[in-house]
Amino acid sequence: MNIFIGGAWPYANGSLHLGHIASLLPGDILARYFRLKGCNVLYVSGSDCNGTPIALRANDEKVAPEVIANRYHKEFNNCFNKLGFSYDCYTRTDSEHHHMIVQQIFLELLNNGFIYQKEIEQTYCEACSQFLPDRYVEGICPACSQPARGDQCDYCSTILDPLELLERQCKICGSTPITKKRSNFICH
Ligand SMILES: [Zn+2]
Ligand SMILES: [Zn+2]
Repeated sequence: MNIFIGGAWPYANGSLHLGHIASLLPGDILARYFRLKGCNVLYVSGSDCNGTPIALRANDEKVAPEVIANRYHKEFNNCFNKLGFSYDCYTRTDSEHHHMIVQQIFLELLNNGFIYQKEIEQTYCEACSQFLPDRYVEGICPACSQPARGDQCDYCSTILDPLELLERQCKICGSTPITKKRSNFICH
């Protein structure tokens, strides 16, 4: 029997803590169990080296995103080896192979109509000349009036859209962002 186990891909923007290990360990236990049963196991995972958390950290430290991704990917690898994780393949999202497979899957979904394009209003910072990911927008929570991030309020746990925040500010430069339309790919 073939068994595929895909562990969660930790974000390469900071050191691992016990919470990460708690969510990753069950995958390793399953992999070992099925191997002992004689199954053909493929247990994979990797470091998520793309995305907002890494861009934010790189911005804070004034280095390129790759510097952050490389640092933590190396650290993760080291941790998993020392802890004895039995991945058959532990890779990273910025590898050429990963890009190729993701593009293949994306195009297949797009060509079969599972993904479509739609214009959505998003927060744009004119000073930084860029659309702001949710976490780059800070302001006041409309539900509890405490300071909050564009994706959620840590104080009252309300899930937010950055457009709902009051007194919005760009996290990078502190200026007030505007609302602008942008074309996005959406899943059905
Ligand atoms: Zn709140
Ligand atoms: Zn800005």
